[in-house]
Amino acid sequence: MTEPCIITVAITGSVPRKEDTPAVPVTVSEQIESTHEAFEAGATIVHVHVRDEQQRPSSDADKFAAFQDGVRKHCPGMIVQFSTGGRGRAAEERGSMLHHRPDMASLATGSVNFPNMIYENHPELVRELAERMLEYGIKPEIEIFDLAMLYAAARMAGEGLLKAPMHVQFVFGLKNALPPRREILEFELAELKELIPDATWTAAGIGRSQLELNRWALELGGHCRTGLEDNIRFDKSRLAASNAELVARVAELCGEYGRHPASVAEARKTLSMAPATAVA
Ligand code: MG
Repeated sequence: MTEPCIITVAITGSVPRKEDTPAVPVTVSEQIESTHEAFEAGATIVHVHVRDEQQRPSSDADKFAAFQDGVRKHCPGMIVQFSTGGRGRAAEERGSMLHHRPDMASLATGSVNFPNMIYENHPELVRELAERMLEYGIKPEIEIFDLAMLYAAARMAGEGLLKAPMHVQFVFGLKNALPPRREILEFELAELKELIPDATWTAAGIGRSQLELNRWALELGGHCRTGLEDNIRFDKSRLAASNAELVARVAELCGEYGRHPASVAEARKTLSMAPATAVA
């Protein structure tokens, strides 16, 4: 039996949908439909940002809730992960939808420069978000955009702010953050093994490094993230037709590395999460 690989699909980021990127789902119904297609292609986690009417990143808790309801209905057992990311959102809004108790939520444990902005995560905000996730029984996905964030996560676990077993995501390829160099991932993995040995991990490559990171993660025993949030093109020339197409690409790659796309039950078991409850 091959090892399951949990495929996360990051369906919508914060970059506005342009005329040449029609596949990026923006409205909640487009997002549910795109998630459903990605689920059928093999994704078992959906990472979501919602947008307002002007396509700006939004903290509208009702939209997050409507999205979650739709996914629970149409994609039984799929793990819903709300983004608490900062682009375009005020700090006090970033956890304002967590009371809807998604299965997971993203949590960056430090600050870093992005291409054109500071991704600011004040220690107090990180702590507040972690506490809210504990309160609502939400499993965080720790976002490691820079090395120090890994040590911050280990320290927070020691303080009881993050529950074991932890799930972390190593992010590469964002200008001004970590470049997609395999040596860095291997170092991070060695540190993870030493500091947080029971953690599971995913890797994400932004832009052109998406596929490369998928391959490294499959080879090194991690899980994979793909989706239009990170890469609206397969390569420099070709636009991805859909989130499902990007998921299908990873699902197909799994076989090359003795892996298979995790089922919902396998994904939940791997992440030590409760089995899905049926939705009426
Ligand atoms: Mg995101």
